[in-house]
Amino acid sequence: MYYYSTNRQAPLATLEEAVVRGLATDKGLYMPEHIKPLPQEFFDGIAEMSFQEIAYQVADAFFGEDIPAEALKHIVYDTLAFDVPVVHVDGNIYSLELYHGPTLAFKDVGARFMARVLGWFIQNEKKEMVNVLVATSGDTGSAVANGFLGVEGIHVYVLYPKGKVSAIQEVQFTTLGQNITALEVDGVFDDCQRLVKSAFMDEELNGHMRLTSANSINVARFLPQAFYYFYAYAQMKREGKADELVICVPSGNFGNLCAGLFAQRMGLPIKRFVAANNDNDIFYQYLQTGDYAPRPSVQTIANAMDVGDPSNFARIIDLYAHSHEEICSRISGATYSDEQIADTVAEVYKRTGYLLDPHGACGYRALAEGLQEGEQGVFLETAHPAKFRDTVEAIIGDRVEMPEKLQAFMRGTKQSVPMSAQFEDFKAYLMGQ
Ligand SMILES: *Cc1c(COP(=O)(O)O)cnc(C)c1O
Repeated sequence: MYYYSTNRQAPLATLEEAVVRGLATDKGLYMPEHIKPLPQEFFDGIAEMSFQEIAYQVADAFFGEDIPAEALKHIVYDTLAFDVPVVHVDGNIYSLELYHGPTLAFKDVGARFMARVLGWFIQNEKKEMVNVLVATSGDTGSAVANGFLGVEGIHVYVLYPKGKVSAIQEVQFTTLGQNITALEVDGVFDDCQRLVKSAFMDEELNGHMRLTSANSINVARFLPQAFYYFYAYAQMKREGKADELVICVPSGNFGNLCAGLFAQRMGLPIKRFVAANNDNDIFYQYLQTGDYAPRPSVQTIANAMDVGDPSNFARIIDLYAHSHEEICSRISGATYSDEQIADTVAEVYKRTGYLLDPHGACGYRALAEGLQEGEQGVFLETAHPAKFRDTVEAIIGDRVEMPEKLQAFMRGTKQSVPMSAQFEDFKAYLMGQ
């Protein structure tokens, strides 16, 4: 299958080209040329299938022409080595817990899948080793580093700003060893990002080593997120609750929601979607007015959604041929302030015992306020509340238990390479690798 750019000014790309490049040469986002509907028998039997079996069928529709069945099956099963359960919260509201992976957030799914696809291309074609450069302000680094951990033929360099990430975040990418190197940059996140961008543009460096990014817009990170929408539906169907299914997605860059829209296009019977925003409500405003007006992001307690110009907006408008009306018929919006998010976390915890994280809280609240008679709602619980322990403990006035996975990271030994914010130093370091 070929991939086209949302800007339509770049040549079609193969899957491998789209994965290695990330962004198209015209700065557009890659879209698969076809979105294949899945057959009715698949939906008839879906409630009896495992997560891995379902995901493989979905993966086959996208990647089956480019990766042989056995290899693809192995990639899917290895990626999804953890459960994604739907848990009842209250009334007709359910939580799709996407936080049972290695770094306790949904980005594990895409990062693990992309790492294995890239690893397969390298092994299959006996290509030289690939080096992934990733700049992080905290959470992306951990998902990418853990997703690529131990994958042969790939080395990952995580650049992070010294003293600017939380201790919980830092241990998740500095204690891994193996093919993961953490570079502690004496600067801010923007410096890390500048170093990475300069590296991609430096000819001498690119002649010395094969470089790639593992950005969240990458098709191999974004498309596998469709897997769990199908599995959520299967679980709701098992309960006899799938007839009028509404799915609510706490959104930042809108990759997650966009994968759900792809699932619906493949035939998944989702009645409608709700996009939940924090104070960064650019998409919410677009739904109200038809105007897309990006603006600088503001900081909130649901900080993984602090995005002022959501990159996957380009994919959403492409999917619906730029029709505002069409988009509004499928997606409604909601937006919540920090105070409303905190109130929701506290109120739901007190009333039901279910502990939301600040992102999931936006999702829960949008359903609590917006579900209609007869509808069942599932919101995506995108991260474990312990990842935001200080914030959540302050809100509920109670201790948040650290999952064993996070405790294990905390027991690890930090290893990082100190790095100045000068590109010359970073380049000299990489040239020596
Ligand atoms: C990345 C992230 C989001 C936003 O997801 P998008 O795909 O960028 O919309 C929401 N919650 C958490 C915890 C995240 O890490």
